[in-house]
Amino acid sequence: MKRYDLFINGEYVKPSTGTWFESQNPFTGEAWAEIPRCDERDVELAVQAAHQALTVGPWAEMSASQRGLLIHRLGDLIAQNAAQLAQTEVRDNGKLYTEMLGQLNYIPQWFYYYGGMADKIQGATLPMDKKGYFTYTRHEPIGVVAAITPWNSPLLLTAWKIAPALAAGCTIVVKPSEFTSASTLEFAALFEQAGFPAGVFNVVTGFGKEVGGSLVEHPLVNKVSFTGSDATGKLINQQAAGNLKHASMELGGKSANIIFEDADIEQAVFGAISGIFAATGQTCIAGSRLLVQENVYDTVVEKLLEIAKTAKMGNPMDEQTQVGPVTTPAQYQKILDYIDIANNEGAKLLLGGKPATGQECGSGWFVEPTIFGEVHNEMRIAQEEVFGPVLSIIRFKDEADALSIANGVRFGLASAVWTTDIGKAIRMSEKLQAGTVWVNTYRAVSYLAPFGGYKDSGLGRENGQDAVFEFLQTKSVWINSGAVAGNPFVMR
Ligand code: NAD
Repeated sequence: MKRYDLFINGEYVKPSTGTWFESQNPFTGEAWAEIPRCDERDVELAVQAAHQALTVGPWAEMSASQRGLLIHRLGDLIAQNAAQLAQTEVRDNGKLYTEMLGQLNYIPQWFYYYGGMADKIQGATLPMDKKGYFTYTRHEPIGVVAAITPWNSPLLLTAWKIAPALAAGCTIVVKPSEFTSASTLEFAALFEQAGFPAGVFNVVTGFGKEVGGSLVEHPLVNKVSFTGSDATGKLINQQAAGNLKHASMELGGKSANIIFEDADIEQAVFGAISGIFAATGQTCIAGSRLLVQENVYDTVVEKLLEIAKTAKMGNPMDEQTQVGPVTTPAQYQKILDYIDIANNEGAKLLLGGKPATGQECGSGWFVEPTIFGEVHNEMRIAQEEVFGPVLSIIRFKDEADALSIANGVRFGLASAVWTTDIGKAIRMSEKLQAGTVWVNTYRAVSYLAPFGGYKDSGLGRENGQDAVFEFLQTKSVWINSGAVAGNPFVMR
């Protein structure tokens, strides 16, 4: 059992409550770590430290190039510690080690990209319509950022927020999910090693409302950057709005993976499998609705079942494992409840549909890869985010029908189109209401490509050049280069 401490103002400290809670390993079902249970007193200390670092001291004085160098160094340290951090994440969230290691090896790119951007953030000299003024803009850090993250990819999603926030010159307090706090607490040590001034990066851990709520309410927090469920996101957005704080929201999805009859069916089926079963379906971009054109429906279903039934479940640390456990008992129960709902709604169970209890599953929370056919878009299984290995297949007639089904949900995070007709691919990409559209692929993300949701899937964008503006505010500076003349009571 490993006991962690918080990270505030450049050092590890004990929680004010003097209490810790257990984090469980989803494969063994056993507690493996003790996580500090914070309350509003720790939030106060962390926010004060971040505010201090933002306003006085070395971070505030640093040139953008120096800041960029530190961010770059942090990337190098993540690369050096990738295996260790990946193992910690697997212990906490049960995702496959191969996937988490891949993520950890990729995360440094966010820090190289945004580290390089730090000294390219520049305002503009404005062409002025008024005589005698030299007017320009400055992009300044938005302030103290509260980053609240979910359990499915803790460090990747933290990187999406903090790399651009640091480039912008902000300081940060992270509140990771209570189920997967360990890797963020370990990651904090790298800030010190990289040479970041104390207070630039702080971590408080604990429960949603207790810690996340006080963070969102804190008057010195200027921006809330949240990733999690739409229900929590809406609540936090209201709280943030009440205090006129900036907020960006990366929320859930019910993404449509659309296979047209002219698609390369082998490739499309491959994409459908990875769309839903990668990470045991616990990804915001899961292709949980598979829309299949009626002429190829039977062929697609047959090929899909052929592959899906070979899925090897087991220990997420084992390289051979393809489907790992569900991260929490609550999530496990939620998935099983949705399977019941789908059965009761009349969807046709084609595969799985129950807990997996074989020896290879240890004492973990496993659900069999599950596929429902003959799903209709108005069913709850087609409308609500399950966040598990459950695929709903929906039949469609033509392009218009596919669009109406794909857009007929309140979410709009991602979607994919499988077709060999370029015109159709372009038409569909224009009309799909989603922040990401993939054509003949699924699940591709990069630090270079903006990512975020339409509709209930969120507000704002992460990744890409624009993400840095989520953490900046613009100031106009007016310099009078001539004598001020005229009537002082009339605005010029
Ligand atoms: P969640 O909303 O339950 O929790 C997310 C975070 O919010 C946690 O740190 C939690 O402690 C905190 N929280 C909960 N209640 C709070 C409150 N009242 N005030 C402040 N903070 C609070 O989500 P989850 O179950 O951890 O994650 C799964 C969800 O995240 C899914 O809906 C998934 O689609 C979504 N997600 C979205 C993206 C994206 O980029 N769009 C990425 C990954 C996950």
